[in-house]
Amino acid sequence: MDKSSLPNSVWAATAPSPIETYPLEEDISSEVVIIGGGYTGLSTALHLGPDICPVVLETNDIGYGASGRNNGLVIPTLSKADPEEIIRTYGKEKGEQTIALIRDSASLVFDLIRKHNMEKAGEQNGWIQPAHSPGRMKLVEKRVKEWGDRGLKVDLLEREQLEKITGSKAWFGGWIAHEGGTVHPMAYVRGLAKAASSLGTKIYTNSPALSLIRDNDHWIVRTENGSVKASRIVLATNAYTDDLWPRLRRTIVPVKTWQMATKPLSDNVRKTVLPGRHGLSDTRGDLEFARYDWDGRLVSGASLIFDFNSEERLKEHVGKRLQKNFPQIGEVEWEFIWNGFLSMTTDYLPRLHVLAPGVFTWLGCNGRGVALSTAMGAVLADLVRGQSINDAPLPVTDLKTVPGHGLVTRFARTSLLNRRISDRKELNLE
Ligand SMILES: Cc1cc2nc3c(=O)[nH]c(=O)nc-3n(C[C@H](O)[C@H](O)[C@H](O)COP(=O)(O)OP(=O)(O)OC[C@H]3O[C@@H](n4cnc5c(N)ncnc54)[C@H](O)[C@@H]3O)c2cc1C
Repeated sequence: MDKSSLPNSVWAATAPSPIETYPLEEDISSEVVIIGGGYTGLSTALHLGPDICPVVLETNDIGYGASGRNNGLVIPTLSKADPEEIIRTYGKEKGEQTIALIRDSASLVFDLIRKHNMEKAGEQNGWIQPAHSPGRMKLVEKRVKEWGDRGLKVDLLEREQLEKITGSKAWFGGWIAHEGGTVHPMAYVRGLAKAASSLGTKIYTNSPALSLIRDNDHWIVRTENGSVKASRIVLATNAYTDDLWPRLRRTIVPVKTWQMATKPLSDNVRKTVLPGRHGLSDTRGDLEFARYDWDGRLVSGASLIFDFNSEERLKEHVGKRLQKNFPQIGEVEWEFIWNGFLSMTTDYLPRLHVLAPGVFTWLGCNGRGVALSTAMGAVLADLVRGQSINDAPLPVTDLKTVPGHGLVTRFARTSLLNRRISDRKELNLE
């Protein structure tokens, strides 16, 4: 298989081999075509099988998009809105449905991993969110209350407890969502592909969908050397959305963000840095995060406002961050560095759309898409099966493009500056 399309990530280098897939080179028919071979597309496929056997078309290799590039933190919350805000925005009934979907999303990931024996794909040992300032402990307490009241297994961590679990004195306390954890992003997406394929999904890689045309009561999806005729379509392209469906790309802002992995840390250091192998991401707007891979590499990263000399700047910047949080780590040596795109929405809420009869999509992970994309796969599968849009656990909305999309996308990363300033202000105020 040509692996050249995958970035030089620790995940591509260490994942179990993918199932064999080939480009589409004939004209075929299927009930359902799914465009995009990441968590969304493959979870949709898995939730359709075995009675519906969809076709998946992927431009590159499985996991080429964010699903093969992310930090693998499995988080059963949204990045900004907590339950009370979700209810204020969506109303009581729909809001509670959305909250339940998000609450159960991390467990869904690990249930699928266990059910389908996905090799080395995940570790359900909880996700931790440390507070970067004393004031942020109020937000942490609010989250513990609101998510705890909705049945998520959570605990507040006082400063000393957090220090014991993380090996760091850098934070002021935090909380743990026990159903969260970490996945090996590429092992998980390949595991989903294998499981879906075993239930009858046909996966074609290096097969970009080039056009989507209505033909009487069917859709025809064309690739370079083939086509699929189907009655229902799922667009599972998220931040990697192209111009296949008019205006869709302009409803989200794709934001580049970087990941990097150290060389394996020594056994001694690992005993004191995240000794329980927890994954964490803190309350900063300019997020600080870290987790281990299976070989004891610490995988972290950051965003940059401008792309120049990026890799060298990141090595220094993220190295210093890790040393600040974990002084016992010593010198930080980097082994892998890569990047990917997040799909952001202006209100940080996900979007679910029915684009035309039988054409479904969701977008807008806002940085929390490992668990959410998996859960949205189940939602999309239900819609494909004919569930009423009124019964979907998220409101189905019309497409709304981001005003000034080109400029907003170009300058999206400058918002990082504001986030850094407010992170610092919060810390200095207290
Ligand atoms: C660097 C980074 C770190 C992240 N860290 C985390 C994290 O720790 N925790 C978390 O919860 N979330 C994280 N996320 C977000 C999470 O990775 C994504 O939300 C999730 O992977 C989205 O999955 P998806 O299947 O919807 O999209 P993707 O995985 O992006 O898949 C879309 C696929 O569609 C394909 N495609 C596009 N157009 C076409 C076409 N015309 N024809 C065929 N195929 C097409 C693309 O090639 C791509 O493979 C991170 C994201 C990034 C980029």
